[in-house]
Amino acid sequence: MDKVAKHVILLVADDVSGRLFSRLYNEGKLPNLKLLGDKGIICDKCVTSYPSITLPTQPNLMTGAYSGYYPKSGSGIPVYHWFDREANPPQYRHYSALHALRQTHEIEDKVKTLFEQIGEGNSYSIVQYCSRGVTKVFPPNKFIAAIFFLFAIVLSKKPENSHKIVTKRLIDVFKNPKRFFGNSKLPKAVTALYFLTDSLMHEYGFDSERYLQSVLDLDVEVGKVIDALQKLGIYDDTIIVFTSDHGNYKAEKAKDLEPFIKSKGLVPFSKKTGKGDFDCSFGSVGFFNFPGTNKNWKLHPTLDELKHFKPTNSQEEINLIEMMFEIEGVKYVYYRGNKNTPENGTIHIRMKDENGNIHNAQIDYNGDTTRYSFEDMDVYRYSEDSNASKLLDGNFHTIEEWLKYTYSVDFPMIPDQLMRYFINPRSCDIMVSTVGTVCYNYEHGETKNDHVYSHDIGLRESMHVPLVIGGSETLLTPRKLEYCKTTDIVPTLVKLLGKEPHPSVKGKSLVN
Ligand SMILES: [Zn+2]
Repeated sequence: MDKVAKHVILLVADDVSGRLFSRLYNEGKLPNLKLLGDKGIICDKCVTSYPSITLPTQPNLMTGAYSGYYPKSGSGIPVYHWFDREANPPQYRHYSALHALRQTHEIEDKVKTLFEQIGEGNSYSIVQYCSRGVTKVFPPNKFIAAIFFLFAIVLSKKPENSHKIVTKRLIDVFKNPKRFFGNSKLPKAVTALYFLTDSLMHEYGFDSERYLQSVLDLDVEVGKVIDALQKLGIYDDTIIVFTSDHGNYKAEKAKDLEPFIKSKGLVPFSKKTGKGDFDCSFGSVGFFNFPGTNKNWKLHPTLDELKHFKPTNSQEEINLIEMMFEIEGVKYVYYRGNKNTPENGTIHIRMKDENGNIHNAQIDYNGDTTRYSFEDMDVYRYSEDSNASKLLDGNFHTIEEWLKYTYSVDFPMIPDQLMRYFINPRSCDIMVSTVGTVCYNYEHGETKNDHVYSHDIGLRESMHVPLVIGGSETLLTPRKLEYCKTTDIVPTLVKLLGKEPHPSVKGKSLVN
């Protein structure tokens, strides 16, 4: 590339599906994004990470890498709620509310953020907390973040104004860099998270007027950014990216998990006492953690221990893997093989069909490649698709192959994604999925609400997000992509800035 971009702007809207984006875009309701997309790169099947939850999707997007075996590679953040067995004493962690600020400190140093990969120069991050290496971040600490959220969301009669606050700050950084950086150099990279769309989606749904309007409003915000850059005379030196972290779905119903847990005599882990039989967070995808030998939370249980578990309040021993199918709606159950190493191993899959019969399948992995096989039933129905079926050849396949052949079906890239989740020593012991039939909204022993709108499953509606790369017309050749993945964004931006992506990056550049 002869000419390189001087500035990149990465706008992430929380919780906008590829499907909704494509409908609005084709109906002409996103004119500013269309302005970028028509002369740049556009895709409505950009595949995000599985599980399709804000974490790991955001740190993966911001580093171009995945959760992974973090002592050697990967961000180390498995998911939004996880169990930290290395902590003293062991305890669960999450990124709700102000805990979101932890991401920057908790991603492992084997991965590098966008800011670390672009090297010298000013950079700014607005409400985007996977931002290690950035010059300045807003809000800078928990105290100011609390005030910001109090005024922008809680006290404001119209929390939708938060969109405007984010954009205004972004434009101010370009208009008056000295105020933010103490020198007058324009920023090389700015990221911004439009977070409100996610709260509105959970509360009112993707089909509500209020959520839809907030997505349409984002187009207006993009228009303001384009306009400001043109007025400053830097539009042709700038790349603007618009994307999302995950899509969404509506569950058939919400249910309380607490009575079931009680009926089994299982006691939730308590942070206060450090004791308990299990820790779990569960939307439509559930992450169950159990203590190892002698109820030691520092250890993962063996398969045998999972099959012969003695709950605190029960005389009977239970097989936890089998028990999962007694939870209403659970269709898939996943767990690690006994002899797994970070390099080689197996993830066992059990699937319950409509008649209540259980079928076995598995993912084997070898380094960075995975093989999916099954006994009597193809649990992902890849064999019904002429492309996806090509990977049922008994061979190990790369992430690029899984993307290419499964992007358009449900469970895109899932063999690869399950491997990247389960090789992380922080991953859970048993993962289950109702695939959006029943949503439990359960966190650490408590049912939090009865929301039916969520995101976490492997279906396309939750896994596809939009990607628009526009701005500088001299740097981009207009292209409509059939597919790509969210980890391709950072290497693309790094390349456009004339740098080389860090070796930890798993995505690939979408330019040159
Ligand atoms: Zn999100």
